[in-house]
Amino acid sequence: MKLLEDKIRSCGRALNDDVLLVDMFLNHQVDCELMKAIGDEFYRIFKDEGITKIATVEASGIAPSAMAALAFKVPMVILKKQASVLMDGKMLQTEVYSFTKKKSYQLTLKKEFITENDRVLLIDDFMANGEAAMGAAKLIEMTGATIAGIGIVISKNFQPGMEKIKAAGYNVASLAQVAEMGEGYIKFVGE
Ligand code: 5GP
Repeated sequence: MKLLEDKIRSCGRALNDDVLLVDMFLNHQVDCELMKAIGDEFYRIFKDEGITKIATVEASGIAPSAMAALAFKVPMVILKKQASVLMDGKMLQTEVYSFTKKKSYQLTLKKEFITENDRVLLIDDFMANGEAAMGAAKLIEMTGATIAGIGIVISKNFQPGMEKIKAAGYNVASLAQVAEMGEGYIKFVGE
């Protein structure tokens, strides 16, 4: 997605070979017009998949997912990183190792919000090693629902996540695919 790649180039910064900082428009300050374009692009890609719910992992997946949910006219379900006393009722949980925090958390879903009849589009901001996407997909599948697609805003294709998710048989699309990066430069797939 050209608009997104241009934004990453102008406002993103590779902290090192591994971590891309995009807090100017995605992770801290949010460019809502860009999020709208991203939501519309996910709709264009997955519109024939019979999507009934958008699911995402808090917090940075929420902005693009909300815009996709608007485009699909379906609810968005936020997978939580911890249970709270507000979550009465039946919960499902799975352990996920965080790429940025370097520790595990319990990804949590209140059972009533996704059922076996749902076809879910899972959206996340980044794909690195695939832990978050794989954990979220597993959690959603515990309900009996189908993962009809996985939409990633930025994938770092030099890390193993994209290949892992494809090998597991998921229909995955990434809007900006980074081939390699380092201090001061970012190269996208196909460049
Ligand atoms: P994975 O589980 O695929 O290893 O990592 C994905 C998760 O880690 C995403 O949900 C995202 O929050 C975070 N993440 C991974 N790589 C990056 C990165 O380069 N920059 C930022 N800001 N977050 C990242």
